[in-house]
Amino acid sequence: MRDVSRIKAAVRDVPDFPKPGIVFKDITPVLGDGALFREVIEIFADSLAGSGVTKIVGIDARGFIFASAVAFKLGVGFIPVRKKGKLPWTTRAEEYELEYGSAIVEIHTDAVAPGEKVALIDDVLATGGTAAAALRLLQCCGAEVVKAQFLMELGFLDGRKNLGAVAVDSILIY
Ligand code: AMP
Repeated sequence: MRDVSRIKAAVRDVPDFPKPGIVFKDITPVLGDGALFREVIEIFADSLAGSGVTKIVGIDARGFIFASAVAFKLGVGFIPVRKKGKLPWTTRAEEYELEYGSAIVEIHTDAVAPGEKVALIDDVLATGGTAAAALRLLQCCGAEVVKAQFLMELGFLDGRKNLGAVAVDSILIY
């Protein structure tokens, strides 16, 4: 079991950002510390050892930071799930609910092969709406999602209940 207390201490709470009532979990102090950033990547990568994943999927935008480094470490591919309108080729789209209104995430239709094992990574699991939409995209493409990994999980929001049977692995739980 790794000691994650230094990672937790580095996450900065920013009250009322981007709007009143939200406590934003700022990961930039973790990213700015080489030892902590490497520790996070190693925890994610170690937990995928022997899983057989051939792609790591990152969620736009902070998920990309971790997912690409984990993909590099494991020597596997990286797939971006992007906000609507950013991917240039043929896409599949999924809509999800926000507090006010909705948003859409997209993936390239050839990003994963049917039956391919992948892991999904993002920085924060809050309500789970974003990750659930990303999972639907992957499952529609026929991918087998072996794990959804997060640096942080806001446990009081119970977002993991929206992720179905997929294993959820969070380094820090609040
Ligand atoms: P949700 O769909 O509610 O699980 O929200 C997850 C997405 O919103 C992730 O991509 C996070 O980057 C971002 N997010 C949600 N809540 C926070 C928070 N308190 N601090 C930082 N990012 C957040």
